Amino acid sequence: MKTVYKRILLKLSGESLMGSQGYGIDPQRLADYARQVKEIVEAGVEVGIVIGGGNIFRGLSGAAQGFDRVKGDQMGMLATVINSLALSSALEAIGQPASVFTAIAMVPIGEQYTKWRAIEAMQQGRVAIFSCGTGSPYFTTDTGSALRGIEIEADVMLKGTRVDGIYTADPEKDPTATRFDRISYDEIVERGLKVMDMTATVMCKENGLPIHVFNMDVVGNLRRVIEGESIGTVVY
Ligand code: UDP
Repeated sequence: MKTVYKRILLKLSGESLMGSQGYGIDPQRLADYARQVKEIVEAGVEVGIVIGGGNIFRGLSGAAQGFDRVKGDQMGMLATVINSLALSSALEAIGQPASVFTAIAMVPIGEQYTKWRAIEAMQQGRVAIFSCGTGSPYFTTDTGSALRGIEIEADVMLKGTRVDGIYTADPEKDPTATRFDRISYDEIVERGLKVMDMTATVMCKENGLPIHVFNMDVVGNLRRVIEGESIGTVVY
């Protein structure tokens, strides 16, 4: 396999982990993700992953129900730890070593994240899974993945979603929406496109980290992106 990226940060949303279930973790979806990730590690790509927690808990919805926002966000961050453990377990089950790093100290669940330990793990052929997002409330895992992607000097942040790229409007609501092949960070902000939160988009812009948005739920797409096929949308 010829690869166009050597080191990637892959962002997976918690929501897509639910599969068709509506809540929690769909073992089939998890296994599909694990197989796709193993395939690109075997092709020599160094892989870091940030996974969301929206399939279990989101701080904002907690706050809407009367939870303290900071505690709600901490609950959300713990949800990302649950998803990260599930993904690492699915990877190990198919013979792909993985290490879970936590932004908040919680040994023995995972090692506390440092850039150097993460890079070391990836260079050893392990998948580095970064849990707890940024480790701070009021942020999202999109911003967590922008941050980790920049820190680990990834070539690109791959945002695996359930739509096949960035559209002029939400394609699940507006049938006339069209997809961009490429779009600049500024245009995303100007058009108010809800592909990622603004903090994450601006961090990527300021640090020159390209973003590639693609449909991760189609098995084989991760490999296609890595091989340089023009699917999805590239943000530059
Ligand atoms: N969260 C946080 N700080 C971070 C990352 C996440 O407080 O740096 C919390 C926040 O409450 C968020 C929840 O964790 O709602 C789950 O993350 P996110 O909503 O980004 O998950 P996704 O939408 O990707 O499933």
